[in-house]
Amino acid sequence: MAKIIDGKSLAARVREGLKADIEKVKAARGRPPGLAVVLVGDDPASAVYVRNKETAANGIGMFSEVIRRPASTTQSELMEIIGQLNRRADVDGYLVQLPLPKGLDVAAVTNAIDADKDADGLHPLNLGRLVTGEPGPRPCTAAGCLALIDDAGLKLEGKHAVVIGRSTIVGKPTALMLLERNATVTLCHSRTRDLAAEVRRADVIVAAVGKPGLVKGDWVKPGAVVIDVGTTRDEAGKLRGDVDFESAAAIASAITPVPGGVGPMTIAMLLTNAVHAAVLRTRG
Ligand code: NAD
Repeated sequence: MAKIIDGKSLAARVREGLKADIEKVKAARGRPPGLAVVLVGDDPASAVYVRNKETAANGIGMFSEVIRRPASTTQSELMEIIGQLNRRADVDGYLVQLPLPKGLDVAAVTNAIDADKDADGLHPLNLGRLVTGEPGPRPCTAAGCLALIDDAGLKLEGKHAVVIGRSTIVGKPTALMLLERNATVTLCHSRTRDLAAEVRRADVIVAAVGKPGLVKGDWVKPGAVVIDVGTTRDEAGKLRGDVDFESAAAIASAITPVPGGVGPMTIAMLLTNAVHAAVLRTRG
């Protein structure tokens, strides 16, 4: 039976590890690092994510603020909010919660965020830094996946990693971060011909699709590490991952649960990005 990689406990350790930097920032400028979240519309899942981010930030002594606006918010109103957040001294990092209501231009919003305050690590400049290997905030879910793999004790160098899903938010940055760590990476997607055959070669599998139970236990190479990013709510309201947990756990060496795996780590990495941004701004 695989070791269950406990994302909640790792996230708690990451948050604990940020406290020294938070104290340093407070000592240097008399106020804590600040994280803001812009929430437009009334998507219930987004409301839960935003609440969790606010609670986590407050829990380690950061300043946090949620800017809530109705779904009827116009592009220019949203751009005005972003302009203000770019100028505010008390906000070190912020994000605009996705998805945005229909009619709002996500790319224009992302591009307008000051790259140095980009807590999600999704600004094109920061994605470029990831491609070129320069330091910068890394996309939170991808960074969370890497931290979970490290926590499982897997040495990535030379290992074969298979990432399923090629979104800009999760799949692509995860593949790049694995590559940065000298894994050999296969990036699979909806047009991949024989997904099972690709996954069977993997020492580490990262599933980021949003299709419950897509990855079967008999696709998992004995001893592989399995990171399940998928979160789909089923009819009973239960969160389901992309991996068939029971069958995969019987064969893998380590596996993340859903919930309690990647989700808490995504938030821990968001806080990490915001605290690092504050440290950099404090240093000037
Ligand atoms: P997305 O819809 O943008 O991308 C899904 C990807 O899956 C696409 O690249 C597509 O090519 C691929 N895909 C679709 N069907 C496939 C198939 N049959 N075989 C192989 N690949 C297939 O989604 P996303 O934003 O990347 O999110 C993916 C999942 O991860 C969702 O369930 C989402 O809720 C979850 N998620 C979780 C967290 C977290 O913190 N836990 C964060 C972000 C996303």
